[in-house]
Amino acid sequence: MPELRLTDSLKNVLGAATAKALDTGLHLRTVEDLLRHYPRRYAERGQLTDLASLVVDEHVTVMARVLKVDNKSYVDRRTGRRADRLEVVVTDGTGQLTLTFFKQSWRAKELREGRIGLFSGKVTVFNRSRQLTHPDYVLIPDPGHVLDAGSALADLPAADDSVLRYAGAMIPVYPATAQMPSWKISSAIDIVLDQMPEHLEDPIPDTTRIRHGLPDLRGALRGIHRPETRDDVASARTRLRWDEAFVLQAVLAQRRVAAAALPAVPRVATGDGLLEAFEARLPFTLTNGQVEVGRTIADDLARTHPMHRLLQGEVGSGKTLVALRAMLTVVDSGGQAVLLAPTEVLAQQHHRSISAMLGPLAERGLLGGSDRGTAVALLTGSASTARRRQAMLDIASGEAGIVIGTHALLEEKVQFFDLGLVVVDEQHRFGVEQRAALAAKARDDNRPHVLVMTATPIPRTVAMTVFGDLEVSTLTELPAGRSPIETHVVPTLEKPAFLDRAWQRITEEVAQGRQAYVVCPRIGDGASSGEDVPAGEDDRRPPIAVLELAPSLEEGPLSGVRVGILHGRLAPDAKDDVMRRFATGPSAPDGIDVLVATTVVEVGVDVPNATVMVVMDADRFGVSQLHQLRGRIGRGSHAGLCLLVSEMPPATAARERLDAVARTLDGFELSRIDLEQRREGDVLGASQSGSRSSLRMLEVLRDEDVIVASRDEATALVLGDPDLATVPALARAVAALLDEERADYLEKS
Ligand code: ADP
Ligand code: MG
Repeated sequence: MPELRLTDSLKNVLGAATAKALDTGLHLRTVEDLLRHYPRRYAERGQLTDLASLVVDEHVTVMARVLKVDNKSYVDRRTGRRADRLEVVVTDGTGQLTLTFFKQSWRAKELREGRIGLFSGKVTVFNRSRQLTHPDYVLIPDPGHVLDAGSALADLPAADDSVLRYAGAMIPVYPATAQMPSWKISSAIDIVLDQMPEHLEDPIPDTTRIRHGLPDLRGALRGIHRPETRDDVASARTRLRWDEAFVLQAVLAQRRVAAAALPAVPRVATGDGLLEAFEARLPFTLTNGQVEVGRTIADDLARTHPMHRLLQGEVGSGKTLVALRAMLTVVDSGGQAVLLAPTEVLAQQHHRSISAMLGPLAERGLLGGSDRGTAVALLTGSASTARRRQAMLDIASGEAGIVIGTHALLEEKVQFFDLGLVVVDEQHRFGVEQRAALAAKARDDNRPHVLVMTATPIPRTVAMTVFGDLEVSTLTELPAGRSPIETHVVPTLEKPAFLDRAWQRITEEVAQGRQAYVVCPRIGDGASSGEDVPAGEDDRRPPIAVLELAPSLEEGPLSGVRVGILHGRLAPDAKDDVMRRFATGPSAPDGIDVLVATTVVEVGVDVPNATVMVVMDADRFGVSQLHQLRGRIGRGSHAGLCLLVSEMPPATAARERLDAVARTLDGFELSRIDLEQRREGDVLGASQSGSRSSLRMLEVLRDEDVIVASRDEATALVLGDPDLATVPALARAVAALLDEERADYLEKS
């Protein structure tokens, strides 16, 4: 028999029918696909599945013991004839599950009391008890029989030697489908394992493998599919996690190495330019972190290769200022810097605040502007044609040293005079491809330097995977003089009166000259929108809406207070107007005291005079999102108060999440809590993951040691062998991952 290769098609190995069944639903096409379809868990001999844990509507495979068998007779409604229904109750020792077979009473012969088997089917509820209708099953050979050798084997149905396999101590339970129950997958894997060559090309080099005590690929695949002990499983799992981490880190290391080889124009501040003038104007001193990160960035910018750096940090830690200093450095050296924001509101606000911070330095060409200054251009998709044309002209001529905008900047017709630095704000919403689109806008063959900022702190391993092609800098401290933010949950179910107290607090703050946000999960004009929190599959009332709450507050508890509204579907000019009136605050005749808004205020909005935030239906928001929202207050010299309003009952998961937010201001801790509750795909984010199926075993939060070690190993390998010529199996895995990523990207765009 010719030896199998991992790339062989299953059709040739298992036959067309089985191959088709494995493809439909499970998408397994090659030998490697099948071998990388790992068991979900293992049923252990003598350990029955906890039946209480079964989820209705899921396809499950359980190991259980037959408790009683009952053949019931009933009248078939359709035919009017008598028919029989076999009801088999199985148990795990405590719970029970009913197996129902219609017109198959003969099964009573094999499903005898006391027999143990694997049963597989979809869980439904009938007469208040959980059942599987017409489950597939295999019975485990009776141990008594097996010991009694001669008769045991004679006893078994000769054709079905798959049953023998279940004499093993650990029975793999695979993610399965109706056509392909777990044990059929297991049989297919047996066939493949039997023909597996002695030596499998390994994507992990031997030196790495041995250094970290990992089994080889062949051993790991055997260990995961046919373990004899729990230790077999554990060591196989570690090795297979390594596979995933290592391939991913090799891709990222290749990207870093390739990027580091690209040419860039070094940008060094002149010493007597804008940066210096700007710093002289700053009303505060930089934090230590800002100074340190600023120095690192200045070093990066001075190189002849492009910087690729991630700047992450606590909400309110002053990332924008760090970015602005980098931008001014580039402008001083004669280049342009662009700041890419995820939303119009944010782009407008950056434009406003950066212009304000620069003061006369941002008014070159205007009367009263500094002759050392530059112009700050704003380019968004919805600006008027005339304004867009002017902005594009200023960008192309180099008149605008600093350019701020949204996705509109990515368009091909936007041409820079000499783009030196790209700053991407609140990165989670931009993909690698979008960064690349901007990077292509530099002069000649040069690449711009790139600085990416995240909205919230992220755990180290997430940074290493999602942003693994970037170097990471972190700002942990908040500027001095920040006021503390107190956070409380307002449980309207138990204490309805607390909500009135919240509105009263807002009135008091406004009377003191302060301002407040009221955040709602929904806009409320019927149409759905991206920033609306989905109503969810539950039967709760619709979330509280901006357009409904604002008027009722104005007429009720907040009468006499100037209330404004802000949401994503306002026209851009209207948004800008509202934000301006809120930012200018109480002193202005047309100022806004209380802003009722959706999560458009989530990131970046900076109005230091705002001291109170009330979040309605707070349980509808994620933990990191609440932390980010809360970061809008406590930015000035007055203490902040954040009230999380929820009608969820105490001791529910939703309330616990809110309590966590109320308990700590540590964004790193909160982001961990947040990520732990999501599925892995969400952890990696939409556009960066490219890992529809490449991360099966690895969990980004749990497997920190594997990720860190594999990153070091992969980086060292790629530095010495950028094309991975010495490890062909790795080169193939890397190519497959990139294909998958491309496919994901195409699917989404
Ligand atoms: P984030 O890191 O969340 O983006 P920002 O960049 O929006 O934070 O900064 C929050 C606020 O802190 C801004 O108003 C900014 O001007 C101010 N700020 C930044 N650095 C300092 C500092 N060193 N001292 C005092 N205030 C600062
Ligand atoms: Mg910011």
